[in-house]
Amino acid sequence: MGLHWLLKFDLHRLILALAVLGVLATFGNSFYAIYQAQRQLLIANTLESNRVYATKLAASADSMIQSAQGQLAYSASLLAPLLQGDDAQALDGEVNRLRLQTSTFNSVVIVNREATIVAVSPETLQVKGAKLSSPTALEAIKSQQPQITDPFVSLSGNYLISLSYPIFSADKRYLGYVAGTIYLQSTSILSSLLGQHYYQDGSYLYVVDREKTLIYHPDTKRVGHKIKGNPAVDEVLKGDDGSLDVINSGGTEMLTGFAPVASTGWGVVAQRPRSATLEGLDEHMSGVLMQMIPTTLFILFIIWLSATFISRPLRQLANRASLMDQQGAFSNIAGIRAWYFEAAQLKQAILKGLGLLNTKIDKLHNDSHTDPMTGLFNRRAIQRLLDEYLVEPKPLSVVALDIDHFKKINDSFGHDVGDEVIVALAQLMQQEVRSDAALCRSGGEEFLLLLPNVTLVQAQGIAERLRLKVASHEMGSAGCITISLGVAHWSSQQDSDLGAVLKQADKALYEAKRQGRNRVVVEI
Ligand code: GH3
Ligand code: MG
Ligand code: MG
Repeated sequence: MGLHWLLKFDLHRLILALAVLGVLATFGNSFYAIYQAQRQLLIANTLESNRVYATKLAASADSMIQSAQGQLAYSASLLAPLLQGDDAQALDGEVNRLRLQTSTFNSVVIVNREATIVAVSPETLQVKGAKLSSPTALEAIKSQQPQITDPFVSLSGNYLISLSYPIFSADKRYLGYVAGTIYLQSTSILSSLLGQHYYQDGSYLYVVDREKTLIYHPDTKRVGHKIKGNPAVDEVLKGDDGSLDVINSGGTEMLTGFAPVASTGWGVVAQRPRSATLEGLDEHMSGVLMQMIPTTLFILFIIWLSATFISRPLRQLANRASLMDQQGAFSNIAGIRAWYFEAAQLKQAILKGLGLLNTKIDKLHNDSHTDPMTGLFNRRAIQRLLDEYLVEPKPLSVVALDIDHFKKINDSFGHDVGDEVIVALAQLMQQEVRSDAALCRSGGEEFLLLLPNVTLVQAQGIAERLRLKVASHEMGSAGCITISLGVAHWSSQQDSDLGAVLKQADKALYEAKRQGRNRVVVEI
């Protein structure tokens, strides 16, 4: 009972379950592997393209700074005589030219060596004549070198960086400097260089100076803020380009590429949200899934077919072997197409077993219907013969037969000789009667002859002939014996029961004994 549920599994289902499990596992595994590979590819591609992009923009910014410094240098060479001549109009003309012609700078100033602004463009800034005291301005005067400042808030209140170039007279006297500014929180050459590459999917880039201060960010409110704890910024300020997976200040996971601007030591950082990068992946993977499904279904169908073909012979063997006791079992099993080794062997074994079983049953059947001593039918066989006659009724004569004074033979010659007499009589009867007659040893030294299709008169003749034959025949050491016989007949039209004819023959035999033995009596 406990393991009864196991019987629900047959070979077909087991093969099917195993194969389907295998296919599904392979399917899932492949799908997962493809998914992972695609995902890593997307991430790697994005990281690399951001690095390349940051490198390209860093190079552009670098050449922009260099060209700005070139413009300042050229202007400084023009300004030296004007500054010496104190030609205010010419100075104004030059700062305006520098600002408007190149449109590199948001504003241009000329500062003399006393740190006083002598010319400014645009004039709206209203800082002309002001004396500078900021450390950056004083540093420029002190160093007498070209400079690029860190971001600072100017006199006019703009957040900016400033590029300056020293002005020397022909005799190498330091006269002051010319400076161009680039605004960081409004439209400038920097914002137009970087801002045009702004993506719509959350990608953006920003620029930090050497001090990790944001000097460009698409969100201008963030310009001027310091970036802390960002590994990409730390890396790029070491002067390396590369890419990293970082979490930005907003907590978003970003695929980041970065590159340094060589001339200024700034860092350009380009980044794209990881989620935006992987957005198309799910759609892509459902496409992959759609492509995999038909093949997988086809494979499953082939597996189902194979499972059916493999399990069928064994299934049929199992089913038909369980009906082995029914008619036609042998030909049923012989008809199974056992197309592979195990099934074929099993089929042969079952057929062989069935053959042996049938032979054995036949033998047992014969044994149970045969008298071992004489080889004649026994009582059980008589009963079966009578049953057969009933199924297919035909006229039947019966002769009952008993050896006369057999006790005396036993007494005089011994039991063994008595046996020999019985066997000898049986043989004699077999020689004397037709093959369709059934000879039966019904008791110790009593016999029955069933004679189908024999009339009463014919049966009487047969009995008489047998009696004479026995009487004139030497039965071994016992010599001649005699027998008494009773004859009866049953015609198929008769109402009476077939068993009654045996009783009638017995009665006739008894009458023969009574009349003195060694005679035939016909039913009375
Ligand atoms: P009758 O039939 O003429 O009246 O006399 P009977 O002496 O033959 O008497 P009955 O038929 O009554 O006795 C049969 C005897 O046959 C009894 C038994 O000892 C003996 N007998 C029965 N079966 C066998 C057997 O298989 N072998 C031998 N040797 N003797 C048997
Ligand atoms: Mg007897
Ligand atoms: Mg007898």
